[in-house]
Amino acid sequence: MKTLIKFPYKRLVIVAFRLPFKFIRKKDGIVASQNSGGLVSAVLSLSSKLIPVQNNPDNSKIVWIGEGKEINGKIINENAIPKNFELSPVNIPARINDQYYGGFCNDTIWPLFHYFPSLVTYDEKYFDAYLHANKLFYEQLKKVIQPGDFIWVHDYQLFLVPDMVRRDFPELPIGFFLHIPFPSYEIFRLMPKTWHNMILKGMLGADIVGFQTTDYARYFIRSVQKSLGLKIRRNLITIENRSVKATAFPIGIDFEKFNSACLTAAVKREKRKIKRNVRNMKLIFSVDRLDYTKGLVNRLRGIEYFLETYPEWNERVIFNLVVVPSRDTIERYKKMKKEIEATVGRINGKYSNISWRPIIYQYKSLSFSELVALYDVCNTGLITPLRDGMNLVSKEYIACQVENKGFLILSEMAGASAELKDAILINPFDYREMAEAIKMSLEMPVDEIERRLIRMQKRVQSYTVFKWASDIFKEAAQLRMSV
Ligand code: UDP
Repeated sequence: MKTLIKFPYKRLVIVAFRLPFKFIRKKDGIVASQNSGGLVSAVLSLSSKLIPVQNNPDNSKIVWIGEGKEINGKIINENAIPKNFELSPVNIPARINDQYYGGFCNDTIWPLFHYFPSLVTYDEKYFDAYLHANKLFYEQLKKVIQPGDFIWVHDYQLFLVPDMVRRDFPELPIGFFLHIPFPSYEIFRLMPKTWHNMILKGMLGADIVGFQTTDYARYFIRSVQKSLGLKIRRNLITIENRSVKATAFPIGIDFEKFNSACLTAAVKREKRKIKRNVRNMKLIFSVDRLDYTKGLVNRLRGIEYFLETYPEWNERVIFNLVVVPSRDTIERYKKMKKEIEATVGRINGKYSNISWRPIIYQYKSLSFSELVALYDVCNTGLITPLRDGMNLVSKEYIACQVENKGFLILSEMAGASAELKDAILINPFDYREMAEAIKMSLEMPVDEIERRLIRMQKRVQSYTVFKWASDIFKEAAQLRMSV
């Protein structure tokens, strides 16, 4: 079924740190290849589904502003970029980018908003670079803005942009969406006051401020109340005679794409390969980017405790840990990778025998077919981040329980746990609870698995990434009408 989305504006103008394509210069021209990431694949799928509501040819056009160099030369594979896409790169000088992206984004906001206050660096230079870079994004945006556009600003790299737009274009509809958690006030206030007030005011430039869960929206509203003392009625904040709505829009996935892929020839081939290799074993699987928020070392502690406590499962279960390379040139990530690898080695050394080793560890990216095949084949998805804005892997896993019905263990610190309540929800710091949950998932009766899976599949199927986007557009339009 083809879902179509009503788009009641002239053009969709997206401002996000990353452009949807990267460009590689080759001998005979430039080659465009898609950047990874949920937002990119969501908007690419979305681009074919926008239906104009007025007789206006620009209605389904998407302009995307993101970090990158001006594209000078011919793109050989022009067809890789949808016709209704216009890319608008923002050039951030390397020196600024190091302190902006590497500094304020990755060393200040990321650890603080994921509840790792001890890892936060507070550096005035980082904040100056953040302000500078946000201005560069805005200057590029200003060049492309046309009356009637919907401006959609994304994520923690661009908190200050909505307010910059609002100052010069008071009439434009603006949406802001935060993909990571918004922390409780007690954590948020650890940042110097001038910075956190600027961040809140920056976000409040939008008409709609969207979060992954209602808790994050509540924490934001509380911070606005405590820090700025603005008038608030439920989730409507009044600022300079405007209303801003802060609410949850949990991001979804393209359910059909994942679900239908399970029965394609390519995925079936991959599934056969996996089954041949694990034979009569139960397979437990996880996939995460290399990041301290994903709780890989804590997960290994839970696995070890499971192997220790339930020896009857030895030689009957395999844990397949896939870690997708990310930021591994940074010292902290390098150290974490070493610790993960040493722990895997130690556990395997302790429990393996000539015909079985409990953990298969892969440090690499998977192709779409490999990923879907693993989702479908494995008996348990063990997704235990210490903190995660949403966690799309858990939703993709649920969508892919087609041929083989497996079950999901999910951290209650992931935004997705607010929707996937039928999973086994655990505290990822509690290795005993994790071991219990592993055992419970392996021993769960088939009819119970199916009953709980059906409820979760219904949720993931009805609240897709397309519904997410169209709800945001609709809500922004309604808010305008009610003013
Ligand atoms: N993913 C990927 N390559 C891989 C494995 C996974 O691109 O080798 C995708 C996966 O399908 C999911 C995304 O990476 O859509 C991870 O999103 P999630 O929200 O779980 O975590 P994030 O990495 O955004 O923190």
